[in-house]
Amino acid sequence: MPFADRFPLIPGPSPLHPLPALSPELGLDLWIKRDDLLGFGGGGNKVRKVERLLGRALRDGAEAVVACGSRQSNFLRVLAAGCRRAGLRCEAVVMDMPFEPPARPAFRPPTSGGNADLAGLFGARFHALPDGSWEELDEARRRLAARLKEEGARVMEISVGGSSAEGVQAFVEAAAEIGEGFDFVVHASSSGSTQVGLSHAFRGTRTQVIGIACDPEPEMAHDLAALSSQFSAASGSLPMTADEFDFRLGWEGEGYNIPSPEGQAAIRRMAQSEGILLDPIYSAKAFAALLDLAKEGSLTGRVCFWHTGGLPNLFAFGIPGQSTE
Ligand SMILES: *Cc1c(COP(=O)(O)O)cnc(C)c1O
Repeated sequence: MPFADRFPLIPGPSPLHPLPALSPELGLDLWIKRDDLLGFGGGGNKVRKVERLLGRALRDGAEAVVACGSRQSNFLRVLAAGCRRAGLRCEAVVMDMPFEPPARPAFRPPTSGGNADLAGLFGARFHALPDGSWEELDEARRRLAARLKEEGARVMEISVGGSSAEGVQAFVEAAAEIGEGFDFVVHASSSGSTQVGLSHAFRGTRTQVIGIACDPEPEMAHDLAALSSQFSAASGSLPMTADEFDFRLGWEGEGYNIPSPEGQAAIRRMAQSEGILLDPIYSAKAFAALLDLAKEGSLTGRVCFWHTGGLPNLFAFGIPGQSTE
């Protein structure tokens, strides 16, 4: 086994339960996988990745991790919390609104509240940069890591969103928690390890994994394939090609970090039918897609909506009211 042991943060499988009100409305046997309830550090899919990444950091004798992301990143929040537990320093380069060139959105996300303040509460050290591309953000992370190494620190560098072979492995393992009885799994997809992990786990089974884009990234299928080869090199499993991933654009709205009208409507529908909260940046967009796909008849049978968390964003970006549609 080439992976380091997990640094345990999760007490057991996240809940999996049916959605009794929405199922008849949508004509599906609809279930929900509650990674929003993973709990540690405020929960969400990133807890799974952080367990694996910190396992490696501790095995390799790191004393600090160097990461990057948007100031409102769920990943940085959970990583910061995990670092406290593991006794590591958490350093992160952040931008308010990293973007995919050439589109520089006019939207300004909140710079305080939500994940930004929670990461601070968990003791992360943020190095803020003016907005720029994801590429520039990643380069700044590499420079910061190089500087800390020069100063003598033993650092582990962590890629955007924690997507790495470890991140994928975390979701290969998570897939076992729902078994092979589903026809479809639908989830929000962004840095890719959730989708690559679930897709590897369900390859060759009846379960079709559908990742919904939360940012306008047309090259995503290739990024997923690249992550799959990284995982394959570490695990010895056969890599998946770009066309083996079911990745759907169309519900990302105006872009990453920008709530969409369809997503806000999906938040209301889930809250008002099932009493469950979605976040405006990821899970709401994925659930909006699920509603549309069910309506057009391309989802049938037993369907699992994988709730990836993100709750602090609901409070930071604002709770949709009745009248905003
Ligand atoms: C990061 C995140 C995702 C996307 O997961 P990836 O593995 O990065 O693709 C989805 N939902 C939420 C709430 C997230 O924080």
